[in-house]
Amino acid sequence: MEISAARLVGNLQVLVEAAGADVAVLPVVKADAYGHGAELCAPVLARAGVEWLGVADALEGLAVRRALSAAGIAVAEQPRVLVMCGPLGEDDAVLEHGLTPVIWTREQVERLGAAARRRGAGLVRVHLEVDSGMTRQGAAVEGVAALLCLMKENGLVVDGVMTHFASAEFAGSEQTRAQRERFAAAVRVVAEAGVRPEWVHAGNSSTIDNDAAEDSLCWLWELAASVGARAMARPGIALYGYCLPIEGEGRALVRERLRPVMTWKTRVMDVREVRAGDAVGYNATFVANEPMRLALLPIGYSDGLRRELSSTNGRAGGWVMVRGQRAAIVGRVSMNLTVVDVSGIDGVSVDDEVAVLGDGVTADDHARVAGTISYEILCGVRAERRVLV
Ligand SMILES: *Cc1c(COP(=O)(O)O)cnc(C)c1O
Repeated sequence: MEISAARLVGNLQVLVEAAGADVAVLPVVKADAYGHGAELCAPVLARAGVEWLGVADALEGLAVRRALSAAGIAVAEQPRVLVMCGPLGEDDAVLEHGLTPVIWTREQVERLGAAARRRGAGLVRVHLEVDSGMTRQGAAVEGVAALLCLMKENGLVVDGVMTHFASAEFAGSEQTRAQRERFAAAVRVVAEAGVRPEWVHAGNSSTIDNDAAEDSLCWLWELAASVGARAMARPGIALYGYCLPIEGEGRALVRERLRPVMTWKTRVMDVREVRAGDAVGYNATFVANEPMRLALLPIGYSDGLRRELSSTNGRAGGWVMVRGQRAAIVGRVSMNLTVVDVSGIDGVSVDDEVAVLGDGVTADDHARVAGTISYEILCGVRAERRVLV
């Protein structure tokens, strides 16, 4: 796996520009930077000047802190790290490593408060998540006032108020509109309680991409400004060069300008000629109709090459790129091995470089054949990583 630092920074710049001067950008590096390696991506993003990074849990936050320190970035200079799934019982690690947890339940408040008292940690900054209608994480709007009281009693300071949209890629989404209203109501409750958050944040990659149609970042900025806070959006997938297509009538603001950060390569380990009638791979799901030249690759589903990319005589599967041309996957993708058709590609030989993801084959291509989204493809790739500057 090759990670292009230049493309990562380029994508960040596209997002920063699209978000505008009044909306900060929190790059999300959860799930090991969507499979790209948080320890590689976090220092690149930090050097590009971001104020925040988003991770899923405290262990990821700790890994990011370590990577930033190892890259020579002093703790005082490091971006703040938002732990988006909450402390998950790792309250001590959160406090020890100066992470900022997202909080939304009474139990979380009480546990974090108790840990802070035990450690003599003083006031602890947290971000309050509001469930504005996704029904996943977050406090109900009606519960916000009581939660704020409990936070105060427990020495927690509300540094940010946030929510997450369920249908950000849908142009003109009714659900998003309703979520915005509920979030705005929650932010008003916070302000009326005399709490002054530094940050009000919402929106993922698609929220930024969908902005032309929705004006959602304008709305976010106005909401934040109304309580004297700064606005922020939280793109993840777009940093890595992908974004869901906008559903419905809408213009994508950034999608066409993003470039994939990950290239995934392997090498041809064997080339063989087969005869008509030869069956290829497990269960003979593919039988050659004519003489073919096949190349064997030392990767399979254990490396994240999805088994849904397998092919049969009746159904095409996925492909890889060999010498700049498509080579179709033939038969079943197995655990560590995959066979591709190089009959139409001249001069293929052992050790030739093969792009599994790269120019001519994207995570969206894999996702389409595998019946999933680019996110899941990228998160699933397991390969030795190298950063290209
Ligand atoms: C993952 C995540 C994001 C980023 O989403 P993308 O669709 O990858 O841009 C933003 N906010 C929260 C809370 C998330 O969990």
